[in-house]
Formats: sequence, C-alpha cells, structure tokens
Amino acid sequence: MKFNDYLFQIGLRERQNIIIHSSFKGISASFPVSPDAVINSLKDIVTSNGSIIFPTFTYFFKKSAGDYEIFDREISKSKVGLLSETFRLSKGVIRTSSPTHSFALWGKIKNDIDETNSPESPLGKESVLEWLTHQQNSFVLILGTDFSSLSYGHYLEVAAKVPWFDFSPWDYLNVLPIGVSTNGEQKLKEIPGCAKGFVKFEKYLLDKNLINKQEYKSLSSYFINIQLLFNEGMKYFQTHYDKLLCPIGSCKACDSRRRKFL
Ligand SMILES: [Zn+2]
Repeated sequence: MKFNDYLFQIGLRERQNIIIHSSFKGISASFPVSPDAVINSLKDIVTSNGSIIFPTFTYFFKKSAGDYEIFDREISKSKVGLLSETFRLSKGVIRTSSPTHSFALWGKIKNDIDETNSPESPLGKESVLEWLTHQQNSFVLILGTDFSSLSYGHYLEVAAKVPWFDFSPWDYLNVLPIGVSTNGEQKLKEIPGCAKGFVKFEKYLLDKNLINKQEYKSLSSYFINIQLLFNEGMKYFQTHYDKLLCPIGSCKACDSRRRKFL
C-alpha cells in the first residue's frame, strides 16, 4: 500500500482540519517514506482549503534555579519529533509564539490564527486547540504513537476543570509559570502537566468502541473526530480524573497532584 492510500483509508480528506501526533520511526518501519514525503502526502490530501497543525513544543520555562533556554520562534527546534520539525520548516508554514507550547500551522487556520498567538493558557483558552474545538470537520491524527502524546488531553483538563487544571506539578524541576522568549517573559496561567495517564482515556474509548485502532504492518494509528473527543473527554475528565494520574511512586509530577488534590 502507498502511504497516501493509507491516509485516505483511515479517513483523511480534503478540507479537514487536522492536528498530527506522530513517530517517524513508527511510520518508516511500515512505509518506505522520507519525512518530507510524509508532509507532502498530508498537504496533498488535505489541501490548503483545510488545515494542518503540528505541535512544535519547546518547553522554554523560566526556572528558579539553574540554566534555562530562551525561545526564538524562527530558530528553536521542535522538541516533539522529527516530523513536527520537518513540517515547521516546510513551505507555507507559520509558527505561533508560545515559548513553551508553540504550533506550526498550514492552510485555512492561518486566516484565524497568526504567528503572534501565545495565550497565557498555552493549551487552553485562545489556543490552537480551542480553535480546533470550534471548527466543524476537525480531527486528531495519531501515527505510530498513543494518547501519551495527545496534546488535546491538556485542553480537556482545562475545559473539564480537573482539580489540578491550574496547578503546576513541575516544582521539583524548578519550573516557574513563566515562558521565556527573545520577546521577553510571559506569565502563564495554566501549565500542562504529565500526559502519560491519557492512555487510560484511550483505553476507555477503545473499550467503549468509540475509537478504532487502525493497524497496518507494525504501524498503529488513530483518526478521531474532535467533537467526539471533546464530548467524551468532558465526561471522562470530570468523573474519572483520578485515573489520569500515573501509578503512585512512578512519577513525581503526578505524585504532587495526588498529594494536593486526592
Ligand atoms: Zn505522571
């Protein structure tokens, strides 16, 4: 099967708004494609009448002790995968300005969100994830990874107001609620925490047959409507938030939330 045909088969179409989480290793083990070819396939199918979005997070927080890096929108490399960096540098793509949680954007979304976008809630109100929530025809495409990379889970934490939605669990790393860029410092209202527990939400959706894991050779993928993710996520995050924490003693960030809120 060609990679384009695979994308079409799992649901990708023209005019959709797509956010992508991917492992290039996972893709290339099943399809003989280059990073550029993957990006070209996505753009060819969705076209500029739709939108393609990759997180290009860098996590440049100020720290109370020790060194910290400074975000340069044009130069700082994405820390969330080879494909996100390849996409960021590809033709027609702009990058938003959050020192901690920037996004690379292509297509229709650029009419609504420009490179100055840097909300004080980086994955909440006024973020790219909120824009996706308010669009028809929006999807999360997960290629070769799982819900531990689902940035939308952080949007759900804020929207569903889980007990720790505005509590930073990163004190043990000396992280302050401040992003640092070449434009200066930005105070942040909500800091996304540990995402490993989002795999529990994944299992819940799979068990209820609300999502399908699409498997081809060694590659597993998901193609999920964001309205479904929002509606089911609001229910799950409001009632089962305790399940979203890592097991006791395995994660300092989740332990600090558990101590304070459970
Ligand atoms: Zn954790």
